[in-house]
Amino acid sequence: MRDWISSLDEIDRDCIHRYEYLLGRKLKDCNEYIEIDGQVDEMILEFESRKEFYEAYPELKKYKGGFNMIQNYTPSQYRTVIEYFKVFDDGHRNGFGFPCDENGKVFDDLNPDALKNYNWCLNNPDKFVRFNKVVKESWTVRDDAHGTCQCGNEVYLYDEYYGACQCGQCGQWYNLSGQELLPPEDWQENLDDDY
Ligand SMILES: [Zn+2]
Repeated sequence: MRDWISSLDEIDRDCIHRYEYLLGRKLKDCNEYIEIDGQVDEMILEFESRKEFYEAYPELKKYKGGFNMIQNYTPSQYRTVIEYFKVFDDGHRNGFGFPCDENGKVFDDLNPDALKNYNWCLNNPDKFVRFNKVVKESWTVRDDAHGTCQCGNEVYLYDEYYGACQCGQCGQWYNLSGQELLPPEDWQENLDDDY
């Protein structure tokens, strides 16, 4: 592979990096390997300038010259959240619920209005079918993938702008797989530049 690349003097370095990016993708999936393999060989041989190459594969333009990944990449994952509530209601969640621990101890940081309601509930047992009962609730949340930016900042990868997001500290852009990207303003416009 290397041999024939080095023999193509007219293909510049960035172009080769993007070719390597495609190679990287191939390794993940054998079917894709075979499919892309044919395409890329043909592609590289066909294009005589970077401009031409990007015009045919504009989506590769944003990969900042290759395959640079965020560090310590952690994929997105699902997580179960469990919370407990002290419930005063009609048995069908019409009423009051106050966050508490699993033993039913209502958290100390209730805001004044909630505290007022809680005390009112405690003093009006006849108003409720379910009175002062600890109810466990659980649900699933999806945590964004994340990793450590080159600047040291922990970056959560979410769809901030067309499938990409930016490090809040240094401004580096990433896609949701944690690959470094050029800033969005460079994704397309440079296609028109002369190389
Ligand atoms: Zn950063």
